[in-house]
Amino acid sequence: MSSERRAELAANLEGVRERIGRACAAAGRDAGDVTLVAVTKFFPASDVDLLAELGVGAVGENRDQEASAKVLELAHRDDLEVHFVGQLQSKKAGSVAGYADVVQSLDRPKLVDALDRAAERHGRRLAVLVQVGLDESQGRGGVAPADALALADAAARADHLDLRGVMAVAPLGADAAPAFARLREVARGIQDRHPQATWISAGMSGDLEQAIAHGATHLRVGTAILGSRQSHQ
Ligand SMILES: *Cc1c(COP(=O)(O)O)cnc(C)c1O
Repeated sequence: MSSERRAELAANLEGVRERIGRACAAAGRDAGDVTLVAVTKFFPASDVDLLAELGVGAVGENRDQEASAKVLELAHRDDLEVHFVGQLQSKKAGSVAGYADVVQSLDRPKLVDALDRAAERHGRRLAVLVQVGLDESQGRGGVAPADALALADAAARADHLDLRGVMAVAPLGADAAPAFARLREVARGIQDRHPQATWISAGMSGDLEQAIAHGATHLRVGTAILGSRQSHQ
């Protein structure tokens, strides 16, 4: 079973890496400048283990309860970078700051304070990305583009947070390219004031090519690597 699953994950991963390679070549970019974050929500810690063996260095999770349990099971994998990519309630900040290396879904000032205090309590620093909402009508989370810089400023001022850049989810059912172009503009505005904020997390299983064409530095890929989440609920 585990060897079958390993072969399946290896083949999927290979396919995704080929897509990334082709998209980078088309965009004149170095594939080494794009980080793949495997989004492992709904899938067991054993899959994360297999992915780590296959060379995946970063995983994404979107719910604290599931993520914290999985991270406990993965205590032997101290080289794995954990990205929290889901909507985060302030009261969960203390838990998430205990195991996440990066919180990609910073979407409001109150969360800056909650994460900053939590990181201090845990005696560590936390990397954060400002999540930008590219389509308010669908409620996929994120701060309005016009408010992103102010939120980035607040994160940069926090003593225990490291502002690294921006994240977004493209609007459902629409062409992702204009959304990713807008995200890059927002990212540049933030980078002008905060030169260290170089990350652009954009692109998922269905739109990673467009994201790479528009400067994404981080891809969050679930289905294309792990398979359909439906069959795992
Ligand atoms: C689930 C999830 C992903 C992965 O989406 P796929 O389409 O399965 O690749 C990426 N980003 C976020 C924020 C997610 O919640």
